[in-house]
Amino acid sequence: MSAKQVLMNDSKAPIGILGGTFDPVHHGHLRLAMELATDLKLAQVRLIPNGRPPHREQPGATPGQRAKWIRVAIADEPRLALDDRELMRKGASYTVDTLASLRADFPDNPLCLIMGRDVFAKLPSWHEWRQLFDYAHIVLIERPGLSATYAPEAAAELEQRSSENVDDLHHNLAGVIYNYAPPPLAISASRIRQLIASGASPRYLLPAAILDDIMDSEIYRSPTSEAKE
Ligand code: ATP
Repeated sequence: MSAKQVLMNDSKAPIGILGGTFDPVHHGHLRLAMELATDLKLAQVRLIPNGRPPHREQPGATPGQRAKWIRVAIADEPRLALDDRELMRKGASYTVDTLASLRADFPDNPLCLIMGRDVFAKLPSWHEWRQLFDYAHIVLIERPGLSATYAPEAAAELEQRSSENVDDLHHNLAGVIYNYAPPPLAISASRIRQLIASGASPRYLLPAAILDDIMDSEIYRSPTSEAKE
């Protein structure tokens, strides 16, 4: 484990898990992680870039680039950590496998899987989705401009497991669904990629050092460009 893989102290507070493509990481991700760390009193938030996401087109940047940008973006923030376990794994990245390995690494910390409401709505299409609740809580995020029609089984879980009490995330290791509405920031990686592909500037939507790195390369210049690695 790298330095920030280990918790800063002996905290038994919940660990936030923010999985995503991070193609590239931007201020929407970073502010969301900070708001959650503060409001939910999390020990840390782990940013976990997908290897090969099973549910969407493959990223434009390589795994190495996406991980490096996260590392740069969070370097000075002890409550945020890069977790590259999905990049190290071969084959498709299934969240249930990621949670199982996190549970083995952090047996005493509640785990909070952070996901958009739109993503949760389609949860029953995920591999072994019911097991997710054995390993982690789910923190549902409201995101500007995205609406959701729930699969019936997802709606049933929501009905059964929802809690409005943040303490429930601290007093149980897994199994609770908690709604969280962060201060809205309408930033997405796809918009950043589109701006770059069309020759426009995405400045101020993401950290300057990451934008400089992108602009020094050919990444995202064409809307269909593929990662080479
Ligand atoms: P894309 O536009 O390529 O789909 P994205 O910006 O949505 O990418 P992901 O890497 O897919 O980024 O996101 C990882 C997680 O962060 C997801 O749970 C996503 O809902 C959340 N997220 C991303 N941007 C924001 C934002 N602006 N506000 C709140 N949550 C966000």
